[in-house]
Amino acid sequence: MSQFWSDLVQQLDPYVPGEQPQDHQYIKLNTNENPYPPSPEVAKAIQGFPLESLRRYPDPESSDLRKALAGYFSLEPNQIFIGNGSDEVLAHSYQAFFSGRDPILFPDISYSFYPAYCSLYQIKYRSIALDKKLCVDVSDYRGANGGIIIPNPNAPTGIALSLDAIRELLENTTSVVIVDEAYVDFGAESALRLIADFPNLLVIQTFSKSRSLAGMRLGYALGQPELIEGLNRVKNSFNSYPVDSLASAVAVASLKDEAWFQQCRDRIISTRGWLEIALTELAFKVYPSASNFLFVQHASFPAHDLYQKLKKAGILVRYFDAPRIDNCLRITIGSKDECRSLIEALKQIIMNSKIDE
Ligand SMILES: *Cc1c(COP(=O)(O)O)cnc(C)c1O
Repeated sequence: MSQFWSDLVQQLDPYVPGEQPQDHQYIKLNTNENPYPPSPEVAKAIQGFPLESLRRYPDPESSDLRKALAGYFSLEPNQIFIGNGSDEVLAHSYQAFFSGRDPILFPDISYSFYPAYCSLYQIKYRSIALDKKLCVDVSDYRGANGGIIIPNPNAPTGIALSLDAIRELLENTTSVVIVDEAYVDFGAESALRLIADFPNLLVIQTFSKSRSLAGMRLGYALGQPELIEGLNRVKNSFNSYPVDSLASAVAVASLKDEAWFQQCRDRIISTRGWLEIALTELAFKVYPSASNFLFVQHASFPAHDLYQKLKKAGILVRYFDAPRIDNCLRITIGSKDECRSLIEALKQIIMNSKIDE
C-alpha cells in the first residue's frame, strides 16, 4: 500500500500471470503457449517489413487486418474489432457493455482476469459454481444480470460447451454475452455461427495460443456492428492506435498460412491424446479437454507437492491456490518430447516416494 495510490488502486486485486522465468531454462508447460513456432509466412513478413514505415503511426482502424479476418471468417470488416491481445479486448468489452447496475455472471472456476477487471472498472459480479464434474450448466445463468462472460472451452478446466448450450444461454438473456474463445481452435465449436442471430453476442479470440503469437499481443472480437461500434468508442477514448504496424503485418501473414496453422494444431491435439493416456496410467484423473492443456488431479499426490517437485526437475506446470481446484494442476500440451520428459519426471517422483515409504 502507498499513500500515493488512489482509493481504487488500493483495493485492486491484480491478476497474477504464470511464471515467465528469464534466467533458467525450464520446460514450460505453465502458460498455454504453443510449442511450435509461427508460420514461415510470419518470418517473411518480419524480414520484409519496411523499416521506414515505423516512422509513422499505425493505421488506427487496423484496416488490413480487419479485412483479412473478415475474409477468413466470412464476416464484414465492421463486425471485427482488433486489440492488443484479447486481454485488452476483454477490458474494453467490460467498459463498453457491463454497466455495473446488475452483477455480471461468470463461472466460479474460470479465467482469473474476469474478477480483476471487475475491480478495476467497479463492476459487480456473481460467480456461478461449476457443477460436480466442473462443467458449466447454462440453466444457472438465467434471470437478471448485467452481462455474462464464459470461456469456451473453459480455463483452467479445458472443458467445452456445445453450440446448443451457448444458444440456450443467448436465448435466455437480453444483456451482452461474451464468449471467450482463446482455446476454441483446439476442439470446441465456435459461436461465430450464432452472430447473425444474436445482436448481443460478442466472440473474442486471440492469436496467442493456436497461432503461436503470444509475444505479439494480438486479439480480436467478432460481433454485430452495433457491439463493434461500442468497442471502438471505448478504444478511441483510450488509445486509438492499439496494434502496431509490425504486429498487424504479422497477423495478416499468419492468416495466409492455413496449412501451417492446421498442422500445428493437429499435432497438439494428437499429443494431448497421448498425454491423457500416459497420465491416466500414472493414476491421474484427467478432465476431458478441448483445449491445449489438461486439467488433472492425482489419486494420492497433493498437487502443490507435484508442482514443486516438477519445478525442481526443470518442468513448470500451473498450480492454482484457489478453492475447489487447489489439488489440481493445469498442464500445457508441449511438444511430444516435452510431454515425454514430463511423464519421465512424474514417474521418478512417484517411484522415489514409494522407496521413501
Ligand atoms: C490466454 C487467454 C486469454 C488472453 O489471451 P491474449 O490474447 O494473449 O491476451 C484470454 N482468455 C483466456 C481464457 C485465456 O486463457
